[in-house]
Amino acid sequence: MNKDCTTVWDNCLRTIRRNVNAQSFRTWFEPIKPIRLEGTSLTIQVPNKFFYEWLEEHYVALLKTTIRQELGEKGRLEYQIMNGAQQNQAATSSPATPSVPKSKESSETNTNIPESLNTDNIKNPFVIPGIRRIKVDPQLNPNYGFTNFIEGDCNRLARSAGMAVAKKPGGTAFNPLFIFGGVGLGKTHLAQAIGNDIVRREDGKNVLYVSCEKFGNQVIQSIKNNAVGDLVNFYQMIDVLIVDDIQFLSGKQKTQEIFFHIFNQLHQTGKQLIFTCDKAPKDLDGMEERLISRFKWGLSADLQTPDLETRIAIFEAKMSMEGVDLPSNVTEFICYNVKNNIRELEGVLISLIAQSMLNQRNIDIELAKEVIKNFVQHINKEITVDFIKQMVADHFSLPIDKLAAETRKRQIVIARQLSMYLAKNMTNASLKAIGDQFGGRDHSTVIHSCRAVQDLMDTDVIFKDTVSDLEKKIRMSLNGA
Ligand code: ADP
Ligand code: MG
Repeated sequence: MNKDCTTVWDNCLRTIRRNVNAQSFRTWFEPIKPIRLEGTSLTIQVPNKFFYEWLEEHYVALLKTTIRQELGEKGRLEYQIMNGAQQNQAATSSPATPSVPKSKESSETNTNIPESLNTDNIKNPFVIPGIRRIKVDPQLNPNYGFTNFIEGDCNRLARSAGMAVAKKPGGTAFNPLFIFGGVGLGKTHLAQAIGNDIVRREDGKNVLYVSCEKFGNQVIQSIKNNAVGDLVNFYQMIDVLIVDDIQFLSGKQKTQEIFFHIFNQLHQTGKQLIFTCDKAPKDLDGMEERLISRFKWGLSADLQTPDLETRIAIFEAKMSMEGVDLPSNVTEFICYNVKNNIRELEGVLISLIAQSMLNQRNIDIELAKEVIKNFVQHINKEITVDFIKQMVADHFSLPIDKLAAETRKRQIVIARQLSMYLAKNMTNASLKAIGDQFGGRDHSTVIHSCRAVQDLMDTDVIFKDTVSDLEKKIRMSLNGA
C-alpha cells in the first residue's frame, strides 16, 4: 500500500517536473510526501497551510490533470498538513473543488515568557529622539532597492515573494520569508529592499533591520544589565522585523530562546518576519527544532548563482551606477570568469576603475585579466590548442583523434578546419605548431583552413553562430568550467 502511493506520486512528479520550472519544483513539490492511497484517492502531506493554499491557487489545474492521468477520472487528491513537529491534521480537498482546510492554531504557540522578561519599561536602543510616537529607525541602507536588484532565473521566486511581502507585510503566506543562499548572492540586498519598499510607503509601520550578530550582542548586553524584558518589549513594537544571517544563532541557546519568544509574539500578532541565512532551514546545525520548524512555516526561497546573462545585466547596472562604460568584450570577459559571487563582480569593477585611474591605463582585456587574478583562481590558465581540439570534438561528438586523421569526410574536415581557425585566433601558437597538432599538416594547410572557415562564416549564419558559441565556451572555460 505504502509503496503504491509512492509510485503514484513519483509518476505525478515526473509529469509535474516537465511542467514547472526547476525552482518552483524544488520549492513546491519536492517537500511533499505521499502518505497513502485509498482507492482513487491519494493523500499527500504538505508542510503547512500556506503551502497547501499556494498549491491550490497556482497549481490546481496541473495537479488535477496529473492525478487524473494517474488515477483515472475519479482521481482525487487529499492534503494532510504538517505544521510544526506535533500537529498532524488531515484536510481534504479535491483538486477540482479546492477547499481550505480547517487548520487549528499551531499546538506550539504557548510561549511562557520568564517573569524576568515581563516589564513595561521600554528602553529603546533605536528610538529617534524628539518624536512623540515611538518610531524606530529602520537601520536600512537606502541604496538597496528592488529596482536595482536585477531579476534572473536565479532569484525570480525570492524576488517576487519579496515584492509580495513588501506590498502586504504580514498579509501573505510568506511569513516568515526565509531567504537563503551562498555568500554574495544578494540576500542582504533583497531583505533590505523589502524593508526600504515598506518604509517608502509611509504607512507608519515600524520596520527594523538587524544583523543576527547585532541581535546576539543585544541579548548579551541585556542579560548583563538584567534588562532582557526591555529588549523583548522593544522588539514587540516592530511591525516588520528583518534579521540578517540567522545562521549566527547556531549554538547560542539563550539567544535562540529569546529570539523564539520574539518570533512567536510577532508572528501571532500578524507582524512580518524576514530572515536571511546561508543555508536552508533543514541544513541548520545547532538550532533548536522548534525554531527550525518555525522557519519552515512561511516560504523558504533560495538565491542561486546567476547565469551569464544575469551576471552581465547586474554588471551593466553597476557600471551605470558608477558612471562608467566598459567595452562589451571586457564586460563579457569579466562575467565569464567571475561566476560565483556578485560581490566579487562588483569588486572587480571597482578595482578596474581604480587601476585605470591610478595607472592611467585603458580598461581592456589585459587590465581586466590582471585585476581578476586577485579575485579568481586559475584565471591565468592559457587556452591551448589541445583544449580547443577537445571542445570542438565534444561539440561535433567526435573522438578527438579524428581531428588529426586522414579523411575527407565533410563533417570531420569542417571540425578540423574550425579547430585550426580557433587555434589561430585564440592562442599564440604559430601556424607550424598548429599544423603539427593536426597530424603534421604544414602551415599552408592551416592558412587554407582559416580561409575556408572565414568563407563559410560569411555565407552561413548558422555556422557563424556555432563558431561564436564555441569561442564563448572556450573563453568561459578559462575559469575551469
Ligand atoms: P549576501 O547578503 O547574500 O552575502 P549581498 O546582498 O550583500 O549578498 O550582495 C552582494 C552584492 O551583490 C551587493 O552589493 C548587492 O547589491 C549585489 N547584488 C546581489 N544580487 C544582485 C542583483 N540581483 N542585482 C543587483 N545587485 C545584486
Ligand atoms: Mg549578507
